Amino acid sequence: MMTSASSTPASATGQSMSRDLRPVFRFAPSPNGYLHIGHAYSALRNFEMARRHDGHFLLRLEDIDVDRCRPEYEAAIFEDLAWLGISWEEPVLRQSEHFSAYASAVEDLRDRSLLYPCFCSRLEISRVVSGMPEWPRDPDGGPIYPGTCRHLSQSERERRLAAGQHAALRLDMTQAVAEAGMLLGWHEFGEGEEGRDVRAEPMLWGDAVLARKDIPTSYHISVVIDDARQGVTDVVRGKDLFDATSLHRLLQALLDLPAPRYHHHDLLRDAAGQKLSKSTHAKSLRALRAEGVTPQDVRRRLGFPAG
Ligand code: GLU
Repeated sequence: MMTSASSTPASATGQSMSRDLRPVFRFAPSPNGYLHIGHAYSALRNFEMARRHDGHFLLRLEDIDVDRCRPEYEAAIFEDLAWLGISWEEPVLRQSEHFSAYASAVEDLRDRSLLYPCFCSRLEISRVVSGMPEWPRDPDGGPIYPGTCRHLSQSERERRLAAGQHAALRLDMTQAVAEAGMLLGWHEFGEGEEGRDVRAEPMLWGDAVLARKDIPTSYHISVVIDDARQGVTDVVRGKDLFDATSLHRLLQALLDLPAPRYHHHDLLRDAAGQKLSKSTHAKSLRALRAEGVTPQDVRRRLGFPAG
């Protein structure tokens, strides 16, 4: 596998790049903090696979959360990747420059009545589900949306919007799955082990938010649009995003985007078994560098040839 791309890039956004048939990998960090060793692992996995399979390696900055993303973190991403010996093809895709493409996809789904406005706050949702200990949770641990705003009448929706109430847009999951109309899945390719076909289970997410109250898109919309736009054939990312792929496959089907292959790699954990993350204050690559750690040390520690 992975000797050639199985599909051509999508045309749904009208902006996809046409490429040769070499596989296309990407690393897609969010510039909302400094990269840590877990990012280094993911970036190196992609970079080395691209190299091994004579593929392209692209960089994408997932900066839709404009309040949390900062230019200094973006500059640090370039610096840290170069320090690790990773190079990427230009242009770098910056998601904050593509809000209009995400808005068109959202509009499309809305026109097909697959999205509805949701005025609930997190607090209101947790009030509705509190006292119901068996209430189902999504793979990220949040409560499945209880559907409060799904049942609002059109006139009530219009009244609230006209009154200036902020709304997120949620996917009507039952409708969406019915419209996608087929059993969805993806090929999970192995590296050194056998690949397998996985059945997508988007229902696990309930009526997921596809456009946030503060941002006219979401990670899920932007990632599927951009994987198509960049002609990504092989998505290599951490196991923490394994379940999100079910939702991504559903969106790809609804938006007529091609399905990449996926490989969800193991996550690096700290001594207490916690996934390394910015929020658990994993030590940044630049802090390691300041301590005298070399890129060769990092590569060796992560099981890559010293380069
Ligand atoms: N931006 C995401 C992150 O930094 C990665 C998304 C992806 O690889 O699909 O965790």
